[in-house]
Amino acid sequence: MIVVMSPNATKENLNNVVQKLESMNLRTHLSTGDERTIVGVIGDKKIIANLEMEMMEGVEKTVRITEKYKIVSRDFHPQDTIIDVGGIKIGGKNIVVMAGPCAVESLEQVRETAAAVKKAGAKILRGGAYKPRTSPYDFQGLGEDGLKILRQVADEFDLKVVTEVVDRQDIPLIEEYADILQVGARNMQNFQMLKSLGKIKKPIMLKRGLSATISEWLNAAEYIVTGGNENVMFCERGIRTYETFTRNTLDLSAVAAVKELSHLPIIVDPSHGTGRRPMVMPMARAAIAAGADGLMIEVHPHPEKALSDGNQSLTPKDFQDLMSNLGEIAAAVGRTI
Ligand code: PEP
Ligand code: MN
Repeated sequence: MIVVMSPNATKENLNNVVQKLESMNLRTHLSTGDERTIVGVIGDKKIIANLEMEMMEGVEKTVRITEKYKIVSRDFHPQDTIIDVGGIKIGGKNIVVMAGPCAVESLEQVRETAAAVKKAGAKILRGGAYKPRTSPYDFQGLGEDGLKILRQVADEFDLKVVTEVVDRQDIPLIEEYADILQVGARNMQNFQMLKSLGKIKKPIMLKRGLSATISEWLNAAEYIVTGGNENVMFCERGIRTYETFTRNTLDLSAVAAVKELSHLPIIVDPSHGTGRRPMVMPMARAAIAAGADGLMIEVHPHPEKALSDGNQSLTPKDFQDLMSNLGEIAAAVGRTI
């Protein structure tokens, strides 16, 4: 349920509302807008069902929320959330680009990639040190050595780091090196891991599961935020459909859906979303037109030699072309890049 305070409610009115709710063992979540404050109420459904708040001073109305996810919903928090990643704002007017190799393979590979993506305008360096591979015989990532390479190179080029966590036991280690922790598609419903990520402070990028509905995805985010970490961004990376020409079907309607349902930012990954290099640029452009807050793009200095996802990786030159192609689209939808 949400309690909508009237525009002229006093601080005291608000305190009384919060106190009443907390005295009934309910949790409150405040969203302070320019006009009015909204109090989100979470807790025992039976207690909430019988709540009468309208007669309290300063309360304009109460609204029942039927969706299971609450804190991530736009009803709870009408304004867009902007996540601050060491000064880089995700979810505001500026579109943030994350780029880098699928997997960290060597210091030289990451350095060459970072130099190129920085020059082209990316703000965040991506790269997997722990890779969730379909086959156990495929390259599994360099582990902590990979994290060290990412951090060192990112600092060298003044970039931030996003990297995937595949096991909740690795969270403390990855937290030391990364600025954003990525939950991969295969772990979107690893609820124990999501709960652990709710206990840390660093932002989380939650990728959409291979066959997850929008509602399942938002509920997965709710697992994180309910633990106290509200710095969550979504990442649409394509879903499984009957189509085989593309690796996945990039669901850009999810961008509009998430914008409608949630206040959290959404990033689009056209690399995994299509699996095909020539499609990355058109879908990146379409993602921006659809309202995405950022892009995640795989870039490799020598895609033909990549240990993973070479087919979808852009060369540094492709990436430069892509970046110089996005400005007009961004401007057309009132954004900058
Ligand atoms: C990745 O970003 O490297 C990755 C493995 O993506 P996904 O979880 O979307 O498959
Ligand atoms: Mn990849």
